[in-house]
Amino acid sequence: MSLTSLSVAELQTQLRSKAVSPVEALEALESRIAAVDGSICGYLARDYQRALAAAKCADVNLPLGGVPIAIKDVINVQGEQCTCGSKMLKGYTAPYDATVITRLKAAGAIPFGRVNMDEFAMGSSCENSAYAITHNPWDLSRIPGGSSGGSAAVVAADEAFAALGSDTGGSIRQPAALCGCVGLKPSYGRVSRFGLVAFASSLDQIGPFTKTVRDSALLLNAISGRDPMDSTSLDEPVPDYTAQLGRDLKGVRLGMPREYFVGGTHPQVDKAVRDAIAHYESLGAEIVEISLPHTEYAVGVYYIIATAEASANLARFDGVRYGHRTAEAANILEHYGKTREEGFGAEVKRRIILGTYVLSSGYYDAYYLRAQKVRTLIRQDFTTAFEKVDAIICPTSPEPAFKIGDRSDDPMRMYLADIFTIAVNLAGICGISLPCGFAQVEGKPLPVGLQLIGQPFRETELLKIAHAYEQSTEWHKARPAIS
Ligand code: GLN
Repeated sequence: MSLTSLSVAELQTQLRSKAVSPVEALEALESRIAAVDGSICGYLARDYQRALAAAKCADVNLPLGGVPIAIKDVINVQGEQCTCGSKMLKGYTAPYDATVITRLKAAGAIPFGRVNMDEFAMGSSCENSAYAITHNPWDLSRIPGGSSGGSAAVVAADEAFAALGSDTGGSIRQPAALCGCVGLKPSYGRVSRFGLVAFASSLDQIGPFTKTVRDSALLLNAISGRDPMDSTSLDEPVPDYTAQLGRDLKGVRLGMPREYFVGGTHPQVDKAVRDAIAHYESLGAEIVEISLPHTEYAVGVYYIIATAEASANLARFDGVRYGHRTAEAANILEHYGKTREEGFGAEVKRRIILGTYVLSSGYYDAYYLRAQKVRTLIRQDFTTAFEKVDAIICPTSPEPAFKIGDRSDDPMRMYLADIFTIAVNLAGICGISLPCGFAQVEGKPLPVGLQLIGQPFRETELLKIAHAYEQSTEWHKARPAIS
């Protein structure tokens, strides 16, 4: 087994026993990236010398001591580029560390590399990046998912031990599912958003991409907790998220939402998820049918609320303080217009226009206000469900990875990629995707993801439930044949 295919926990064992040094781990990673990233295109930038300097003085006894971690290009790392996959922020260097980065560093980790994403985290395929299209390591002609497609692809291809991404409507869980790794979206308020470039502030959360559930818990341990710089981060104690790993599932009730199993899902995805549910029963969990009656409104509500918030958040990119600035403009209005016309890509413009429309006078009540009310109903669906069950089990994505270019001209079809993940963000609860099998498509195995949805701030239980499945199956050990 090569060094770069180790999980974070396995790497730590090697580092602490001095079998491997942090510098050797980083060198191994860099040569793996040099060997495979030409075909994956997961990294937008890396500062090897900087990481090397950190590796030389890493304290391997810290919780993540000496572990390099790839960072989605939407999270600020002081002194490094932060483009958000957009021309608008080309050449922009972050002047400070996001809180998650401060915390990773305090835990001994080494942020290494900026990974690709859909522009400003808007998309489900990584095709909206202004810089590159990342390829799925399982089939290079296919998308890795999005928007954190780079984070998922580099972990799956053993070009990173772990990565951070962000999830507004599914952007951690969906690419994790499509690339065959573990992706966790923490509860809203669990992880500070300070230093994360905002897309939709009431939905965004940062979370880990890892090879195993245990690693997910280890990273969550490091990045969670109240932060005075983010007033939406909650003052809830941070438990040890590894504490319940390995416990059995006796008495655990898992809810199968009727509305998530109604057809329309790829048959091989449906089968893999149903097999996983049967496996949970064999592990002692009780499966309960539940209903989330407002499911059908989730995508519509999301595309009103997320675009409304995005239109406000992206107003700051006006060519005055930072980012792209148009070369010539006769007056200030032309300056704003040309800067934004040149700096933003088509999908970002579509969202800003939609968001501005739903907030405009005369339409605000009909769209935005109504969407907020339905959001409350969606949240209540989950509250009611959690009176009967401990967690909810369903697919992460309705289909395996699709071909690059297949959905580019059809935004509606693209938006449906997140049909099973979006409600979790609207409700502010937590969700995890983990590998549960493969679909054979055109002779190639494509990973299928199982989604488990948990109650707010109950990540410990969610991770326990995920871990029990992972450890009694082999799916997480599979690796794409790329070298
Ligand atoms: N695919 C969804 C969108 O395009 C979700 C993106 C995300 O979670 N950042 O908005």
